[in-house]
Amino acid sequence: MEARVQRGIDADVIVVGAGPAGSAVAFHLAKSGLSVLLLEKTRFPREKVCGDGLTPRAVRELVAMGVDIDGPGWIRNRGLRVVGGGLRLQLDWPELHSFPDFGMVRTRADFDEILVRHAERAGVRLIEGANVTGPILDERSGHVTGVRVRRDGEDESYTARLVVAADGNSTRLSIAMGLHKRTDRPMGVAVRTYFRSPRHDDDYLETWLELWDGDRLLPGYGWIFGVGDGTSNVGLGLLNTSEAFKSIDYRDLLRRWVKNMPAEWGYTEENMTTPIRGAALPMAFNRQPHYTRGLVLVGDAGGTINPFNGEGIAYAMETGRIAADVIVQALARGTAAQRERVLLAYPRILKDAYGGYFTLGRMFVEAIGRPGVMKFATRHGLPHPTLMRFAFKLLANLTDRRGDASDRIINALSKVAPSA
Ligand SMILES: Cc1cc2nc3c(=O)[nH]c(=O)nc-3n(C[C@H](O)[C@H](O)[C@H](O)COP(=O)(O)OP(=O)(O)OC[C@H]3O[C@@H](n4cnc5c(N)ncnc54)[C@H](O)[C@@H]3O)c2cc1C
Repeated sequence: MEARVQRGIDADVIVVGAGPAGSAVAFHLAKSGLSVLLLEKTRFPREKVCGDGLTPRAVRELVAMGVDIDGPGWIRNRGLRVVGGGLRLQLDWPELHSFPDFGMVRTRADFDEILVRHAERAGVRLIEGANVTGPILDERSGHVTGVRVRRDGEDESYTARLVVAADGNSTRLSIAMGLHKRTDRPMGVAVRTYFRSPRHDDDYLETWLELWDGDRLLPGYGWIFGVGDGTSNVGLGLLNTSEAFKSIDYRDLLRRWVKNMPAEWGYTEENMTTPIRGAALPMAFNRQPHYTRGLVLVGDAGGTINPFNGEGIAYAMETGRIAADVIVQALARGTAAQRERVLLAYPRILKDAYGGYFTLGRMFVEAIGRPGVMKFATRHGLPHPTLMRFAFKLLANLTDRRGDASDRIINALSKVAPSA
């Protein structure tokens, strides 16, 4: 599909960064007939540090994009196994109208390339190895009219009617536009590696609420996700409400945690297939506003990770879809003033969709940052399956609008909480 490009510019929309947010927004824009240039600094396939876990929320977005999730390499899971307080509890993904009842795992090396090729097939023009170094601004209005790029040692520039920052947590583009991180929002750091393991085809995602080194409780939370290719993705994360956040050696922490696991799982140095790598998790809209002067923020660039559970892929794809909706409508308006009015509504639309829920998430993060709270919750919550099923829906943000009593409580709480 070839979209018509307005004379004098390179595309209707330039999208910077081809992670899940960038590929999703580019895909949806192209489907609506706009010409889209997607600029990515790396080349595919490329590694991305992640747990590789996809909840039903992420699966719903893949389905909406028409990605073939029945093909080889897509491993499905039935729910979440929670380990803590000497207990393990298996919770199946809830049966809902709004979401499928399964999640998946796929390495980001595969996942991101599948999405970007899917976007290309929808008509998106992708340039790999294109490192965006800064915005080009209109002298009079200060609006973004394009981007400067460094590619193969050469400087280039591209222009468009609108630019989308989908460049992840580091989001150089947003920073160049004066959008800095909010310090009143939670931030996480997580590390992960892969081990060859017989647990590679586990049909539950596993989360550990406590990490033990012998009889010493370590800071943080862990996960073990079977990748289905002979390996497990094993990782842990800490929130900045934890005292150890800045000072701890994360790699050492992971080694100490897995050292205590049963030998038959195979989580040993010899079975480690990649070095332990880490990255940051920007949460609860830690960069705002999500639209300013010709620049739209999606995914991690706008800090859209769910503070309850550290999930970011679904929110990256969802904000990509929502942004595309707004952009398509805006660019169809006749005057610059009309277009601006539509674009200025985007931050409000995001706040209406996630603001209250993210505020609850911030309260949750603050609560579990207090000494003893998590231990108390684990000891007293895990033995009660009904309570845990409620907590599971809340933490994974999986409810129907007119669902059962627990859905209605969660929706009502999200609605009354002030927007993040
Ligand atoms: C250890 C860890 C584990 C995690 N586990 C999970 C999980 O299991 N499930 C889950 O849902 N979420 C998880 N997350 C969160 C998830 O990885 C992110 O929320 C998600 O990747 C956000 O997608 P994005 O497209 O916004 O950004 P990214 O995936 O970061 O993509 C940004 C893209 O922009 C490109 N880019 C950056 N700068 C430039 C530039 N200047 N020019 C051109 N291109 C540029 C990058 O190369 C990259 O391709 C985890 C995060 C971490 C750190």
